[in-house]
Amino acid sequence: MAATQAGRELVGLFPPGTTQDATGGLVLGGVPVAELAETYGTPALVVDEASIRARARRYADGLAARWPNSRVTFASKAFPCTAVNRLLAEEGLGIDVAGGGELALALASGADPAGLVVHGNAKTEEELRLAVDAGAGTIVVDNFDDIDKLEKILTDPMSEQGVLVRVTPDIRPNTHEAVSTGQNGSKFGLLLPQAREAIARLRGSDRLRLDGVHVHVGSQILDLEPFAQAVEAVAELGEFSVYDLGGGLGSRYTYADRPPTVEAYLDAMIDVAKRLLPADARILIEPGRSMVAESGVSLYRVVSVKRGGGHTFVAVDGGMGDNLEVSLYQQRFEAAIATRPTGEGELCRLVGRHCESGDTLSAGVPLEDPRVGDLIAVPVTGAYTYALSNNYNGARRPPVVFVRDGAHRAVVRRETYADLMRRNLP
Ligand SMILES: *Cc1c(COP(=O)(O)O)cnc(C)c1O
Repeated sequence: MAATQAGRELVGLFPPGTTQDATGGLVLGGVPVAELAETYGTPALVVDEASIRARARRYADGLAARWPNSRVTFASKAFPCTAVNRLLAEEGLGIDVAGGGELALALASGADPAGLVVHGNAKTEEELRLAVDAGAGTIVVDNFDDIDKLEKILTDPMSEQGVLVRVTPDIRPNTHEAVSTGQNGSKFGLLLPQAREAIARLRGSDRLRLDGVHVHVGSQILDLEPFAQAVEAVAELGEFSVYDLGGGLGSRYTYADRPPTVEAYLDAMIDVAKRLLPADARILIEPGRSMVAESGVSLYRVVSVKRGGGHTFVAVDGGMGDNLEVSLYQQRFEAAIATRPTGEGELCRLVGRHCESGDTLSAGVPLEDPRVGDLIAVPVTGAYTYALSNNYNGARRPPVVFVRDGAHRAVVRRETYADLMRRNLP
């Protein structure tokens, strides 16, 4: 099959290392998509293991080269399963968790508790107790209630728990309102005057060890200014031994998206850090989306093709049950017929199987002669799709399949109908 420019661009959105077989079909991690669909069924979330590992190394090496006393911590909410946590822990990353569930997943994956960073704007006393008992290295204080609860839990004055104070720097990045977190009016963190108050209180505590400050201004951020501004804001609070600069770098979902490279992103922050932060401080960053998004591909089967009123609806066997990014944040995705990804053809509305008109995977995507039974591949679904998957319309949440060097293995199995019934009491 002669590759066209459109076809090459489309394949370029799939995980690095994706190739095509003799007939043009996509080959993910050395495994043809048709084989994956046959083995695991659809919908399925396929993850290219080598590309996540490469991404983790690029982040870790890039940060260490610019600021040696540093660590990359994976924001596990972007893909909360033990296999992904384990893989990133193996690469030497710390793990961010919010709440007891993510804490349990991180511990089950074998991650070192000392490298856990515990977040959340509404941590219950029970969750804080779990974190303290597990030996979580860092707890990020979001509010004064966190301090009260921790001082109650830590009865032994010798048991110094490391904490950071989450700062709201009043920065409004250009991203969807639902994933902007650093502005005045955000439910997260403390504005500078309140942050100063919390810092003073923590400095006087005999059980909590104030290590430093934390800032995270939002997600899917495609420009660099907010990251640089965030470092400037935390620098104003004074000198600490740790500065956690959060996550938020955007991913390339569509041809039009031009996110900064990891290196440009690190330069933007570390240039400011070199000017304003103490040279011996430790810097943490917490990428989630940009660590995993590009490594994931969702596979679906076409169930129906319907034409009328100037539209062609291509309906697949998944949708908002396995990808809520579209309905929650109006995230745009491209898509391909996996066995002939030409990037050309009829402009179609790629829709899901759920009972809402908002259940659209892509409002307008060119597909070449789509037919019932065709395999559809949606690239860049590695972040927040698994996390937000649900049982709407009785959907069984899809399996997660790792591919690498021509081999494949399920790391999360598909839900069964029995799973759907499991919590329903007679
Ligand atoms: C969500 C979150 C992140 C990761 O954000 P991404 O946009 O996925 O990189 C990092 N830190 C905190 C505190 C978060 O809540």
